[in-house]
Amino acid sequence: MTSSTDSLPQTRHIATAIPGPASAALHCKREAHVTSGFGVAMPVFINRASGGILEDVDGNRIIDFASGIAVTSVGAVNARVQAQVAAQMARFTHTCFMVTEYDSFTQVAAWLNAHIPGDFEKRTALFSTGAEAVENAVKIARAATGRKRVLVFDDAYHGRSLLTMAMTAKVNPYKKNFGPFPDEVFRAPTATRLWARAGEEATAATALAEVEALLKANDPETFAAMVIEPIQGEGGFLVPAPGFLGGLRELATKYGIVLVMDEIQTGMGRTGKLFASEHEGVAGDLTLTAKALAGGLPLSAVTGRAELMNAPHAGGLGGTYAGNPVACAAAMGVFETFEDGTLLKNALAIEATAREVLQPLVHSTAIIAEFRGRGAMLAVEFADKTTLEPRADLAAQVAASCHRQGVLVLVCGTYGNVIRLLPPLVIGPELLRDGLDVLREAILAANEGQSDTASASALAVV
Ligand SMILES: *Cc1c(COP(=O)(O)O)cnc(C)c1O
Repeated sequence: MTSSTDSLPQTRHIATAIPGPASAALHCKREAHVTSGFGVAMPVFINRASGGILEDVDGNRIIDFASGIAVTSVGAVNARVQAQVAAQMARFTHTCFMVTEYDSFTQVAAWLNAHIPGDFEKRTALFSTGAEAVENAVKIARAATGRKRVLVFDDAYHGRSLLTMAMTAKVNPYKKNFGPFPDEVFRAPTATRLWARAGEEATAATALAEVEALLKANDPETFAAMVIEPIQGEGGFLVPAPGFLGGLRELATKYGIVLVMDEIQTGMGRTGKLFASEHEGVAGDLTLTAKALAGGLPLSAVTGRAELMNAPHAGGLGGTYAGNPVACAAAMGVFETFEDGTLLKNALAIEATAREVLQPLVHSTAIIAEFRGRGAMLAVEFADKTTLEPRADLAAQVAASCHRQGVLVLVCGTYGNVIRLLPPLVIGPELLRDGLDVLREAILAANEGQSDTASASALAVV
C-alpha cells in the first residue's frame, strides 16, 4: 500500500525559530484577508503532515499532540482513506442525498448501527459538523417525546451554533457577545474533579441527587433530552466518577427522557474503545459522532433507537452537504483502518507511556493537580496544589514552551488551566516519548520558576 507517510521522517526537527519566517509572512497575509474572529493555538502554516508529524513551511517537523482536535486519529495521511476518497472523487463529488441517493451513505449508517453501544434496533442520520449532530439530536428527541426542554451539564461543550452555544457552559470565548440564545436549556452538575475545588467529594451519588432534584423542580416530564459527553472535552478532559453515566441512564429511563451521548470528541477509538461510553457499559438512546469519523473530512452522525430516529416527519431532517459522498468514502477508509484492532491497542499503549512520564509529576511538583483521561485522551491540570486554585498562566507558559520546541499541545478547561494530549493513534513510540519528554521538562521548568518566585518572596519578607 503506498502512502506518503514514508516520505515524511517521523522525528522532531527544528529548522528555524517557531514560528519561522515563512509562517510569519503567511500569518501577516492572513491578517489582511481573514477575519480576526478565529484564534490560533500555534501560528505555523503546515506544508505536509503524516503519522505524528506536522511539517511547516519553514521545514520544522512538529510533533502533533492535537490531531486537529481529535480528528486525524487514523493519521492525517491514511492510505485507506486516500484510496476510498480518490475512488469516490473519480466517480462524483456530490448529489445531495435528499435529491438522489448513493449507497455509501447507507453503508456508513450500517457500520455505525452495528458498532455504537445499545442492544436495540438502530437508525442513523448523517450530517457534516458536530454542532449539527447535536442540534439534530435535540430535534429528534423533541419530535419523539413531544417535550421541549434539554438538560446539559457543567463544563459541557457541544458546539458554536446558537442552540449548541446555549448548551455549552464556558462563556469566554464561545458565547460572549453572541446571545440571546434559545431557551429551555437547563444545566446540572457532574461528578467530576472540579467539585473537589468547592470542597465537595465528586461521587456519583451526590451529583446524581442534584441532577434529579433539578429535574423534579422543573417537572421531569417536560424534558426531551439530556445530553452528556462521556468524558468532557473542552471542559478539561473531565472523567466522571464511576457510576455517574449509569445513574444518568437510570434517571433518563425513569422519566422518559432521551439520553444523548455526545461522543464527538471521545468516539472512534480515542479512549481505547471505539466509544467511551463502553468503559461504563452505558448506551445512549442517541449517540453522536463527528471529529475522527471521516479522517479529516467533514462528517457527523446521530445514531440511535429506530423508533426515535424515525419520529421526525420525512423531509424534517437533512442538509445540502449532509453525508457528503466523499466524506462517506473517507469514513469507510476509517472503518477499514479500525478493523484489525491495532489502533485501539495503540490508544492504550499511548496512555501507558504518557502515564509513566507524566503521572509522577503530580507528586514531584507543586503545580499539577491531576493527570487524567483515558486512552489517547489525556490531560494535565495546572493548579496550586494546596488551594487547588486554577493556574491558566502556567498551562499557557508550558504550552508556549512546548510550541517553541516543536511540540504541539492544546490548552483546554473551563478555567483554561489544562493541557490536553490528543496524538494521532498512529504516532510511533519514539516520537511519542520525545514529545512527552519535552512536555515534562517544560513542566519541571515551570515548577522551578514557581519555587524560585516563592523563595524570592520569602527572602524579600526576611
Ligand atoms: C467538537 C465538539 C462538538 C462540535 O463539533 P463541531 O464539528 O466543531 O461543530 C460537539 N461536542 C463535542 C463533545 C465536541 O468535542
